[in-house]
Amino acid sequence: TKELPADPILENFRRPVHACFSYVSPKKTAYPVLVHASRVLAKELGITEEDLQSEPFLQVFSGNELVPNTTPYAMCYGGHQFGNWAGQLGDGRAINLFEMEHQNKHWALQLKGAGETPYSRNADGLAVLRSSIREYLCSEAMFHLNVPTTRALSLCETGDKVLRDILYTGHPEYENGAVVCRVAPSFIRFGNFEILMARDDNATLKKLTDYTIKHFFPHITSGSKERYIQFFQEVTDRTLEMLIHWQRVGFVHGVMNTDNMSILGLTIDYGPYGWLEGYDEGWTPNTTDNRDKRYRYGNQIHIGLWNLYRLASSLMPLIGEVAPLEAILDGYRDAYEQQYLKMMKSKIGLYAEDTGDIVLIRTLEENLHLTETDMTIFFRNLSNIDKQTPDNANFLSTVMDAFYLPEELTDSVRETWNNWFVAYVARLLREDLTNLERRKRMNKVNPKYVLRNYMAQLAIEAAEKGDYSLVEELYQLLLDPYGEQNEAEKWFAKRPDWARNKIGCSM
Ligand code: AMP
Ligand code: MG
Ligand code: MG
Repeated sequence: TKELPADPILENFRRPVHACFSYVSPKKTAYPVLVHASRVLAKELGITEEDLQSEPFLQVFSGNELVPNTTPYAMCYGGHQFGNWAGQLGDGRAINLFEMEHQNKHWALQLKGAGETPYSRNADGLAVLRSSIREYLCSEAMFHLNVPTTRALSLCETGDKVLRDILYTGHPEYENGAVVCRVAPSFIRFGNFEILMARDDNATLKKLTDYTIKHFFPHITSGSKERYIQFFQEVTDRTLEMLIHWQRVGFVHGVMNTDNMSILGLTIDYGPYGWLEGYDEGWTPNTTDNRDKRYRYGNQIHIGLWNLYRLASSLMPLIGEVAPLEAILDGYRDAYEQQYLKMMKSKIGLYAEDTGDIVLIRTLEENLHLTETDMTIFFRNLSNIDKQTPDNANFLSTVMDAFYLPEELTDSVRETWNNWFVAYVARLLREDLTNLERRKRMNKVNPKYVLRNYMAQLAIEAAEKGDYSLVEELYQLLLDPYGEQNEAEKWFAKRPDWARNKIGCSM
């Protein structure tokens, strides 16, 4: 383990003074059972298959036993929730167990749902099986999609019952408790900096920032305020990079509050997230955000910038002038347009410079909204277009499987699409790649398999009855989202009708 971020002075239990965290122990569980473990991540941590099946593993990663000489803690952070300053939040149900190094990589391991902490406010610090399966499967899936993310090592049922309001019935019900072990180099968030700025605690703010730079941005060696400016630049770059990836794969986080923004640019806190099925910039999976749709798919990159403004304000005491921070934030706007264009071009197999591409892509996005069109299937099947096809070819047949209601394809919709395909194929002819080369490249950025909301739901329903086989099946499937898995064709399909408007929820 390395040096700790600050001295935890627990003068005030709920509101630590000059401190970034509080020591706390996980709650003992009644009858822990390992539901699943990520063999891929375990290997990266130097944990063997045999370890995963061992009793000590189960006891440690369900929260029942501590690794000797470790001092678990919960972090203090604040945050802007839905645009408003919410004051102190903190790890209400996450407990950092320990940090470790393996093959020169540094990891923090944390339990989510292991009981109350000083930051739990009025809640119980627990998690249910339903939300834990969603977090567990999705964080590993995102990793294999090449999206920067926190990881998940294990998922245990605790054997305890947890009381929750069921979203659809409105009644409180007992559900199965669960604990996920999350893994990342660090779980520090924008909110860790915001809370210290809000408290005018510049000394601790400086300590935390220096600690973060030293351990996670060690290549930043410039002195005094220059280092903080460079730090902010790198956090900005990483945040944007992550968000471009979200857009690429159709991931909607759902709760982009600043307490859910990792300082390392990792996707963190898988709550009411969802995957686009029909391509819809206005869609959010978060039913509590239904009015403003602040965190809708088409707004995520803008919210990233909004959140970076909050982080910039928090770093102001260390930098003392606005101009360099504003220059970085302005840079985000330019970089976003360029990177977004490049990403969208890669999704449709265009690599050369062409001034018409912006319009071609904007028109494509408009067309995708004409009728409900499955994002994943559309882009995956688009790679099958033959650029030598004559102008009057039936292009739509190549992507027909992506339309939820093919009967809604009126003549006028078909014509609009056909015009786009004619322009697209003409544009493809200005690229050097053969059809086959282009298809290979496109299939590396357009996944075939994603964790559709109903898939997680099926795994949850089975697991609640004690059958974990679908968790394993989906885990396996999502190890290779860009591959062709012939035996898994059923997961490359539109959302079934029964699953329309049904999404999971976070609590
Ligand atoms: P979220 O919207 O999930 O990011 O959560 C916002 C805040 O509420 C964070 O400080 C969480 O730690 C806290 N929180 C969420 N659920 C619970 C829970 N069951 N028990 C304690 N704290 C919670
Ligand atoms: Mg959170
Ligand atoms: Mg959460």
